[in-house]
Amino acid sequence: MIKSVLIVGGGSAGWITANMLNADMKRANLPVQITLIESPDIPTIGVGEATVPSIRRTMTGIGLSEQDLMQSAEATFKTLIRFINWNKGEAYDHPFDRRPRPGSEQLARQWSARNGKRFDQTVSVLSQIADENLAPKTPQTPQYQANFPYAYHLDAIKLANRLSDFGRERGIQHVQAKIEAVSVQPDGQIASVTTDQGETYSADLFVDCTGFRSVLLGDALNVGLKTYSDYLLCDRAVTMRVPYDVYKPEQIVTYTRSIARDAGWQWDINLQTRRGLGYVYSSAFLSDDEAEAQLRASEGPHTKDIPANRIKFASTKRHVSWKKNCVAIGLSDGFLEPLESSGLYMIEYGAQMLGLMLQDFAHAPDATIRNFNRNMDDLYEEVLSFINLHYVISNRRDTPFWRAATADSAIWSGLKEKLEIWQNRPPHDMDMHGPQRLFALDSFEFILHGMKYVAPDHGLTPTMPDHTEILKKCRTHLPKHEVFLDLLARASRAMA
Ligand SMILES: Cc1cc2nc3c(=O)[nH]c(=O)nc-3n(C[C@H](O)[C@H](O)[C@H](O)COP(=O)(O)OP(=O)(O)OC[C@H]3O[C@@H](n4cnc5c(N)ncnc54)[C@H](O)[C@@H]3O)c2cc1C
Repeated sequence: MIKSVLIVGGGSAGWITANMLNADMKRANLPVQITLIESPDIPTIGVGEATVPSIRRTMTGIGLSEQDLMQSAEATFKTLIRFINWNKGEAYDHPFDRRPRPGSEQLARQWSARNGKRFDQTVSVLSQIADENLAPKTPQTPQYQANFPYAYHLDAIKLANRLSDFGRERGIQHVQAKIEAVSVQPDGQIASVTTDQGETYSADLFVDCTGFRSVLLGDALNVGLKTYSDYLLCDRAVTMRVPYDVYKPEQIVTYTRSIARDAGWQWDINLQTRRGLGYVYSSAFLSDDEAEAQLRASEGPHTKDIPANRIKFASTKRHVSWKKNCVAIGLSDGFLEPLESSGLYMIEYGAQMLGLMLQDFAHAPDATIRNFNRNMDDLYEEVLSFINLHYVISNRRDTPFWRAATADSAIWSGLKEKLEIWQNRPPHDMDMHGPQRLFALDSFEFILHGMKYVAPDHGLTPTMPDHTEILKKCRTHLPKHEVFLDLLARASRAMA
């Protein structure tokens, strides 16, 4: 029986994992003491502003109300990613829709990129709803439930802070100290960790949420990294926060903008009181100074007094996520790249598995570890395949970066054969990798058709769905995004 879990690290990974485990154990009536140790002097990475819809299920499980989440993390709605300049030609969307209405499955199979209409706008109404800046739900829709699929843009630091308060109120023990030493037994198990204040802590299971430092799994247990940098070339980001009192766009939009640039791509995320901007680029093709200059130039002179944050990362994953009595969740285990907002999902998925497998570990440790590691490897491969797709099928060849990113050698082996097949017929469920945890066929279709990669299914004439009625209803019932946010702020003030 596992009675104690010690989590090291208090970023999004640490606090999401701590709260999910705590809620799971309480639901199962299992007396497991959860302790989280974080260094007050080592900052969290401070990015991770775009989420995917699973975050709603995660927060429901934790027990944090939607109003609380949205107010404390300055969240806005996110219904899709808009890809701009990824291909010569028009922009396209990756909405969160999954085959919403009967007939769309057949349509997706029969779709011809040459019939002149955009696939995303034909299959889904979300692009239109986003263009009209409507919220995906009404204030009366029950919390976390949806009229249309949605996630959030949020302030990751504020979310972690709120989850810290929330978790401590519910019994998570919190220690602010830096881990300076890790004691490993001869059999390879972690015995204890010692802080800079001289305190020693032991536990039945240790969770490494120390970010890229990977203090427990990487440093203490010597688990190395496998790299995906041949397929995902970006390894740097420069980010900036632009408050609305410095510059406010016309609308607070419900989509992430992903704009392809000469040596990578740039995000633009709208929160309640500011925008988050970031240029993700390859250091082989652009210097850090030049990247920052380009980010500032793309935004305008009002960024002159706004500080920029430079981040180094690598597309890597630990050889195993769980070894002996230590499991890594979050950046300590790995990271691919932020293009499809998969980082927080990996944490949710790892923490959910851990909640399920915690007691398995007590009686079948080796099988549990293999099970966890296999599932996490599969998820990484699924996400790698999907992100790699965005780059390799681009028809851009205009800069050295784009020539390298679209080279044959940059296509991940797990994707290569599928791309050969999809040149001749549209993708099918049976082509997909494994159980499709995050990116199912629908997501692949939005990218493949958006980039006009897929060959038409000759001889078939798709029946186009008509969105007129549903859009009429949306315009009548759904509030504008900013009206929704306003009502939310007022309700929160009234409750305070
Ligand atoms: C450029 C970029 C953009 C991203 N954008 C997104 C996005 O849009 N959406 C998304 O889902 N994900 C995104 N991610 C991923 C996301 O940021 C991370 O998955 C998430 O923030 C989790 O980070 P973490 O908690 O693992 O690490 P961190 O935030 O780095 O936290 C590490 C914690 O460990 C503590 N620590 C470290 N060493 C010690 C020690 N010795 N003793 C005690 N404590 C210690 C630190 O104090 C800190 O609390 C992005 C990542 C990058 C690099």
